[in-house]
Amino acid sequence: MIIAKPNTLRLILGDQLNISHSWYQEQDQSNIFYVLMEIKPESEYVTHHIQKIIGFFLAMRDFQESLKQKKLNVIYYKINDDNNLQDFTANLNHLIHELNVQKFEMQEPDEYRLEQYFKDFTSSLKIEYQTFSTEHFFTERYELKNLFGDKDHYLMESFYRKMRQKHNVLMDKNKPEGDKWNFDHDNRKSLPKNHQASLQLIFDNDFDDVLNDINQADLQYFGNSENFNWPINYMQSKLALDYFCNNHLQTFGLYQDAMSIDDEFISHSKLSFSLNLKILSPQEVINAAIQAYRNNTEISLAQVEGFIRQILGWREFMRSFYWCKMPNFAKTNFFDHSSKLPEFYWTAKTKMNCLRHCIKSSLDNAYAHHIQRLMVTGNYALLLGVDPNQVDNWYLGVYIDAIEWVEITNTRGMSQWADGGGLATKPYISSANYINKMSNYCKNCFYDHKEKLTDNACPFNFLYWAFLIKHQNLLKSNLRMSMMYKLLEKFTEEEKTEILQKANDYRPE
Ligand SMILES: Cc1cc2nc3c(=O)[nH]c(=O)nc-3n(C[C@H](O)[C@H](O)[C@H](O)COP(=O)(O)OP(=O)(O)OC[C@H]3O[C@@H](n4cnc5c(N)ncnc54)[C@H](O)[C@@H]3O)c2cc1C
Ligand code: SF4
Repeated sequence: MIIAKPNTLRLILGDQLNISHSWYQEQDQSNIFYVLMEIKPESEYVTHHIQKIIGFFLAMRDFQESLKQKKLNVIYYKINDDNNLQDFTANLNHLIHELNVQKFEMQEPDEYRLEQYFKDFTSSLKIEYQTFSTEHFFTERYELKNLFGDKDHYLMESFYRKMRQKHNVLMDKNKPEGDKWNFDHDNRKSLPKNHQASLQLIFDNDFDDVLNDINQADLQYFGNSENFNWPINYMQSKLALDYFCNNHLQTFGLYQDAMSIDDEFISHSKLSFSLNLKILSPQEVINAAIQAYRNNTEISLAQVEGFIRQILGWREFMRSFYWCKMPNFAKTNFFDHSSKLPEFYWTAKTKMNCLRHCIKSSLDNAYAHHIQRLMVTGNYALLLGVDPNQVDNWYLGVYIDAIEWVEITNTRGMSQWADGGGLATKPYISSANYINKMSNYCKNCFYDHKEKLTDNACPFNFLYWAFLIKHQNLLKSNLRMSMMYKLLEKFTEEEKTEILQKANDYRPE
């Protein structure tokens, strides 16, 4: 007797575009329906950059075409389709009824918010359901707890070393290749004077139709769409990966922290969008980087190790940290900060050259590299005492790669130190000195990077010292802050009072 397979509905979320997933390799697909949906609540839980909405919709639409080419049954709701009920539950219930579905399946969501949502949804179902792994990450959600137990603080470096060993990445038997785990010391230089802007791949994706649909659906957004230049499918993402390995990997670590008015991207890979939508797997990215290193003598171990640390180290660490610490992590506000995010984060209209440049680049490209996010926009927000919720919302909206598990950990944890050190051992703050050392922003700035009290003193300077003074009870005992506090001890009491006064009177333009 042949037992008919139950009609099965499989939901694919917008960040689950992994074409190598075992779902799509199954032989018998006859009773399986795949559904993808563009819905308003997912586009509007914060106001997003237009390129982020375009990027997700283009990639999802392209993915459904790939599934159709494999002759799979695919249902796709565009944002402005008449039958789109603009709600996961409503669309799914409708399909379950229409298609006489007997089983619902989905892959694990990567956001806590969606995890809760689908727990409610599946508990209300009268049919069978099953959840699958996304088959994307190297690690399990709770890998940090499994490795180190339930802790307030986790150290990325210890996690990274364990991952190198566990996954046999850049290992020479039991030792790290080159006898060192971390080559940061050889990296992180500023750009040479004669640096030429790096060449970038162009992806000529037509987004007119998607933009029309977005406008017709009246979605709220900000930022510019003109420069949209992101890979939207596996083929393009693979091209981006190969291009990076052949052209930029050899200087990746070297200029990882450098910033320049003349070069938005320097040697960064711009792979975060493809990775976070799971178009590319971290394993494939790491394999390609190692292969390039083995084949090309111009790529040093320091460069490839620096790159792999970002993916096997930071990216996997952030993901597990997120699951180990949510939902309380999203409410943390260690410094009790409550100021408003300055208006110029939405317009780039400021006389501060560094902020103007990094924000303009974010608005134009839905991108800024790590140090621009950490040491310019993030550093300023922290020194100013901005409410971490507002900071989070901006980062979650503005960047093409922003998905909560990797955005909130970087923003609230690393950049705003709102969890008081669970993720990073010290707050990432600096005066203009660091920005001047790592960039050419200060050269033509209205403000003077050497001054801290004059009329044209750089706001980073007096805000930085005022921050250290105000929070000394919380920070002075932190060993990693001792150098900063040693310098502060050289200030007279009058100087400290003047700095506090200046910071107090300061209003962002
Ligand atoms: C305040 C702040 C917010 C951030 N928000 C996000 C975010 O929403 N989404 C996001 O993917 N990254 C975020 N990051 C991390 C990092 O800035 C981006 O991953 C990186 O800039 C993406 O550009 P890229 O692909 O050119 O990266 P590269 O510099 O080329 O690095 C290679 C890859 O390493 C991974 N990576 C590097 N640093 C980190 C990190 N700190 N955490 C996790 N993965 C990392 C990314 O997948 C990246 O694609 C944030 C950092 C800060 C300081
Ligand atoms: S002087 Fe200050 S505000 Fe101007 S670019 Fe330098 S750090 Fe930024």
